[in-house]
Amino acid sequence: MRTQVAIIGAGPAGLLLGQLLSRQGVANVILERRSAQYVLGRVRAGVIETGTAGFIDETGAGARMHREGLVHDGIEIAFAGERHRIDFRALVGQGVIVYGQTEITRDLMDSRARSGAETLYEVDDVSLHDVAGTKPRVRYRKGGMEHEIQAEFIAGCDGSHGVSRQYIPAPLLRTFERQYPFGWLGVMVDRPPVAPELIYTRHERGFALCSMRSATRSRLYVQCSLEDRVSDWPDDRFYEELTRRLDGATAAKLEPGASIEKSLTPLRGFVAEPMRYGSLFLAGDAAHVVPPTGAKGLNLAASDVHYLREALVEYFRTGSRAGIEAYSSRALARVWKAERFSWWMTSTLHTFPAHSGFESRMQEAELTYLVGSQAARAALAENYVGLPY
Ligand SMILES: Cc1cc2nc3c(=O)[nH]c(=O)nc-3n(C[C@H](O)[C@H](O)[C@H](O)COP(=O)(O)OP(=O)(O)OC[C@H]3O[C@@H](n4cnc5c(N)ncnc54)[C@H](O)[C@@H]3O)c2cc1C
Repeated sequence: MRTQVAIIGAGPAGLLLGQLLSRQGVANVILERRSAQYVLGRVRAGVIETGTAGFIDETGAGARMHREGLVHDGIEIAFAGERHRIDFRALVGQGVIVYGQTEITRDLMDSRARSGAETLYEVDDVSLHDVAGTKPRVRYRKGGMEHEIQAEFIAGCDGSHGVSRQYIPAPLLRTFERQYPFGWLGVMVDRPPVAPELIYTRHERGFALCSMRSATRSRLYVQCSLEDRVSDWPDDRFYEELTRRLDGATAAKLEPGASIEKSLTPLRGFVAEPMRYGSLFLAGDAAHVVPPTGAKGLNLAASDVHYLREALVEYFRTGSRAGIEAYSSRALARVWKAERFSWWMTSTLHTFPAHSGFESRMQEAELTYLVGSQAARAALAENYVGLPY
C-alpha cells in the first residue's frame, strides 16, 4: 500500500490529523492497535479550548460538540472553605467547551468513515523503517498476515506508550520528566453537576475536582496515594472523602450515585525533544504528557496537529520544507508553556507528602494573591482557555 502520510494511532491526535489532511487533499492511512470500541471506551479529557474546537469544526465533525457541549465562561477555585470564581469571559473574552474526549473521538471516527479515508484497527507489531530518509515504510501484522505501507511521512500519534518515539535515535533524543507523588481517583456518575462550572478545591486532605460531562453526568476526582488501587475506593468511601474536602455549600449539593466508571491516574509531566526526526513526526501524548490539572493534554495534541498539518499541506502544495523544518520548535514552544501551566496548577492545588508548613503557606499565599489580583486571574484565564498558536 502507498500513501502520503501514515499515521500511527487513532486517538484524538491521529484522528484529527487524518481528517484535517483528508480535507486538504493529503492522502493518509491510520493504523490503530486497539479496536474502535476499545478506543471509544477510554474516559479521559473533557475540557476543549476554543482553538481545538475550531480545528474539529474544520474537519466537519463539530456539529454535535456545539449542540451538546457546555460552554463554560469560567471556573471556580475553592480553598479555606470558600469558592472564588475566575471569570474567563470578563478577563480574556473567551471560554471553553466541556465535551468528553469519547464524544470527540466518536465524531471524528464518524466523519472519517463518511469521508471514506482508511483506518485499520487491531493491527499488531507496528514497526517503522527508513525514517531517516525520504521513503519511510511502516510494517504491521493484521489477521495473521504481514503488511507494508510506503509513505512520504509518518506521524507518530500513538500516545505515551506507543512505538514511534523509540525510532528517534537515542543520542538525539532528550527527555524531561516529573513524576508527582500522587494520583487522581476519578469517578463518572449519572448525577447532575454540583455547580454549573468546574470547581478546583485545595484542601489539607488533598485536592478535589468537581467536573462534568453534561447537565446530567458528573466527573469527580480526589487526589489519592500512588499505592492505592481502584478496589480500595468503593463508592461510599469516595463520596465520604470528597464531601470532607469540599466547602459546605458544595458538599450539600453533592448527590452520590453508583459510579459508572472509576479509574486511577498517576500524575506526571513528560516532554521528548525533538518532535521530528527525518520523515517521522511525533504529535500529542507520543511526545509529551501533562498532569490533567490544567486540562491541556488533548488540547496540546490538537495544537501539535495544527502545526503539523500546516507543514505537510505546505509541503505537498508548494514543495517547501520550511514548515517541516520548523515543526519541532514551533510545537515545543507551546508544549512547554502548557507544561508550565499544568505544573503550576498541580503544585498550587495539591498536598505534597514532603511539604513542610512553609510550602503549605506558600500555596495559600499563591491562592489569596490569585483571587485578589486581576492580573493573576487574567494570567490563569489566558492559559486555561488556551494560548495563541
Ligand atoms: C484522567 C485523565 C483526564 C484528562 N483530562 C484532560 C482534560 O480535561 N483536558 C485535556 O485536554 N486532556 C486531558 N487528558 C489528556 C488526554 O486524554 C490526552 O492528552 C489525549 O488522549 C492525547 O491524545 P493522543 O491522540 O496524543 O494519545 P492517545 O489518546 O493515547 O491515543 C494514542 C493511540 O495510539 C494507539 N497506539 C498506541 N501504540 C500503538 C501502536 N504500537 N500501534 C498502533 N497504535 C498504537 C493507542 O491505542 C491510542 O488509541 C486527560 C487524561 C487522563 C488520563
